[in-house]
Amino acid sequence: MAGKLAGKVAIVTASTDGIGFAIARRLAQDGAKVMVSSRKQNNVDNAVKALKQENLNVEGLVCHVAKKEDRSKLFNETVKKFGGIDVLVSNAASSTYFGPTLNTPEDSYDKMFDLNVKSSFMLCKEVVPEMEKRGSGSMILVSSIAAYTPMSMIGIYSLTKTALLGLNKVLAPELAAHNIRINCIAPGIIKTKFSNALTQNEDALNVALSTIPLGRLGTPEECSGAASFLASDDSAYMTGETIVVSGGMTGRL
Ligand code: NAP
Repeated sequence: MAGKLAGKVAIVTASTDGIGFAIARRLAQDGAKVMVSSRKQNNVDNAVKALKQENLNVEGLVCHVAKKEDRSKLFNETVKKFGGIDVLVSNAASSTYFGPTLNTPEDSYDKMFDLNVKSSFMLCKEVVPEMEKRGSGSMILVSSIAAYTPMSMIGIYSLTKTALLGLNKVLAPELAAHNIRINCIAPGIIKTKFSNALTQNEDALNVALSTIPLGRLGTPEECSGAASFLASDDSAYMTGETIVVSGGMTGRL
């Protein structure tokens, strides 16, 4: 398929729904071969079926990003099916506690850091040898506007997203030595299952909308163009940066 990602192979984690699904679809529409994944086989099957019906070049498999053996399988199967790996989009995250930050249970804190930060780091670290074989690569971390301005009631989740901005900065110079770039996307409030709790409560929604200059929530598709740009050679001279996709919500540390 022609397109700015023609010839590239991309992995997108947590890509059977929401932002990850929209990114997987967009990368494939722009010509990449894409490996779709998430924890549940039936979600993988449905996502792959939907994308194949659009004549997109995708395969899928189960990968819980916190499981080392799942990550290995994800890389091995992608290489087996598509011949290598050029692009990694680390998109999986969870928010396991809602309430005052000081009341966050220790196991929730650990789970969020394990999934949102450690798994992203492990994916980046473990994919390097495959990108080195291709001579270059592009990694994209999905952070959040909450990385810049922590959201009340999801304080530790916000902190994990700030940590990803740090990870981006820490890894950029080291990866550059391998001709691999890394950048972040920081979505604002995007209509997905993840943001349902906020968007289904009218009062909370109105408060949120009052902070968004464009006056509306974003869609997963509106995050996908930024991912395609960062995956492509159009961003060849960008590394260690973050693109904020937030309808104007302030992104600044
Ligand atoms: P979503 O619509 O709820 O989609 C979640 C996806 O993640 C599903 O495909 C799910 O499939 C998969 N998943 C969940 N846990 C996983 C795990 N441990 N390993 C692999 N896959 C997993 O979520 P979303 O809103 O698109 O969020 C995607 C990313 O954007 C997250 O990093 C989130 O922090 C970030 N973000 C979202 C918003 C927003 O407003 N929505 C704003 C800023 C940033 P399975 O159930 O099959 O695993």
